[in-house]
Amino acid sequence: MAGTRTFTMIKPEAVAAGHAGKILDMIIGNGFRVVSLKYTRLSHKEAGAFYEVHKERPFYGELVDYMASGPIYAAILEKSNAMEDFRKLIGATDPSQAAEGTIRKAFAESKAKNAVHGSDSDENALIEGHFFFSSREQY
Ligand code: GDP
Repeated sequence: MAGTRTFTMIKPEAVAAGHAGKILDMIIGNGFRVVSLKYTRLSHKEAGAFYEVHKERPFYGELVDYMASGPIYAAILEKSNAMEDFRKLIGATDPSQAAEGTIRKAFAESKAKNAVHGSDSDENALIEGHFFFSSREQY
């Protein structure tokens, strides 16, 4: 199954702006199958643990505050070459650098509030998926 699954979150500002339905539609329309889906909110502690890999980066505190600031959608997605294809679909971290047709180009507010998360490796996709979903929540 290596390479067939990735993990995403629709981030708080995109949910608050009412973009979640359109973003999910774009994801499914681009050939990703939803394996798991949850509407939830990270506590500050959970957001800190999720982004622990970024602990040394200067924006870690801001990132954790932001990701705990409101509800999100978390999802595991399936497609061949899922991680790489999803990174292409979401576009560059900074929406001003994101290509036309990408989710971040269409919906991100800024480099920090950039609408969606996408795992950056197959290994992290697995870890991040398990952070939110037990094996019996993956279909
Ligand atoms: P990604 O893999 O494209 O999501 O980007 P990174 O791994 O570099 O960063 C993780 C997340 O941290 C991004 O998606 C942004 O939400 C946030 N982030 C990145 N750069 C900055 C920044 O300069 N300031 C703040 N506040 N947040 C940032």
